[in-house]
Amino acid sequence: MQLNLATLVMLDIYILTLVGVLMLHAWSRGRDTTLGYLSGGLLVGALGTLIGSLREMNIDWLPIVFGNVLILLSAALAWTSLRVFAGRRPSLMAILAGPALWALLCIVPAFYASLPARIAVGSLLMAIYAGLGAWELWRRRRVLEVDVRPALLLASIHMSFYVLRAFFDSNLPFASNGQSTPFFTLVVLETLLYVIGLAFVTLAMVKERAELRYKSAALRDPLTGIGNRRAFVDAAELQLAECARRHLPAVLLLCDLDHFKRLNDNFGHAAGDQALAEFGRILAGRSRQQDLCARIGGEEFVCLLTEADAQAGLALAERIRREFAELPFVAEGQLSVSIGVALAQGAGHELTRLLSQADQALYAAKAAGRNRVELYRAEPRLG
Ligand code: GH3
Ligand code: MG
Ligand code: MG
Repeated sequence: MQLNLATLVMLDIYILTLVGVLMLHAWSRGRDTTLGYLSGGLLVGALGTLIGSLREMNIDWLPIVFGNVLILLSAALAWTSLRVFAGRRPSLMAILAGPALWALLCIVPAFYASLPARIAVGSLLMAIYAGLGAWELWRRRRVLEVDVRPALLLASIHMSFYVLRAFFDSNLPFASNGQSTPFFTLVVLETLLYVIGLAFVTLAMVKERAELRYKSAALRDPLTGIGNRRAFVDAAELQLAECARRHLPAVLLLCDLDHFKRLNDNFGHAAGDQALAEFGRILAGRSRQQDLCARIGGEEFVCLLTEADAQAGLALAERIRREFAELPFVAEGQLSVSIGVALAQGAGHELTRLLSQADQALYAAKAAGRNRVELYRAEPRLG
């Protein structure tokens, strides 16, 4: 397959610049460094390709040395973009290592004069940067919140392509009639597809992760790290509906710190915040993985236990109450917690009813002197 080299190179420069500017724009909106490095890589790549094209005008050292230094820098920046996405710091040494090695090798006359040697080394360095990009995603694939497989696949294909080129291509990119060689045609086309594909999947990953983070921040209480009222209501309704469908019991614990205002007044707001954080920690630590814990108000917390009976709910509430009261600074501040417990069974699985019953039990615990656990019991009906 042969195409006009000048047309191909122009297309390459145009696409690199266009996608680079689009990434720059996306970066300026969200300030995600992943997109910053990617746009830098694409624009440097466009400049490197432009300088590389001077070879057609019989200018040698500028395209061979400087053009390729920029193209390698571009590959290093594309790798860095995936590296920072994976949560690691950029490595300036490694970014500069490839371009610097190239510049140094060009000082060696035998290397500078050998086209096969230059193609082999240049392609291997490109393959290494693409491979590093794939490796960054692979090693962190379990902790990254989004699916990295498309980007991983693209970087792996790009790497394999340059490994092949290092071993099987040793020709000038163009024939004397100005047509590109078949392998060089493939190099340009593969680069174009890689650039467009990488920009597309990187943008998608960055956006998806930002959305996930906003979503989870909107559902979490920042002081205690557990869910907030909104998260609780949404998840609890689903879980209760599932329990009702499967005829399973569920238990709700409604916890309210006792005389909390007094602690704030006597020891300051920061001490109050510390007590809230400690209570959140105990609640999350004492409950099971599948239980739903949340801070639903100032000093009010809930925990929904599915597939649990009143006995289990009361036992957990008692453990939480005792552990909190035994914290040294809680005891010193004369702080404690009262907990109302309500059981959902049979047909009574609505969240509002359960919350109201737990609230009545909590009120009873407060009335009976605080620092205690009470179970909601329906008033016996007359008649
Ligand atoms: P009771 O034993 O009857 O529950 O009395 P209480 O003092 O615990 O309850 P009250 O509702 O009178 O006071 C709750 C206090 O919680 C009032 C409010 O200033 C405080 N508060 C609410 N949110 C926060 C918070 O995020 N941090 C701190 N430090 N205090 C908070
Ligand atoms: Mg309260
Ligand atoms: Mg209170």
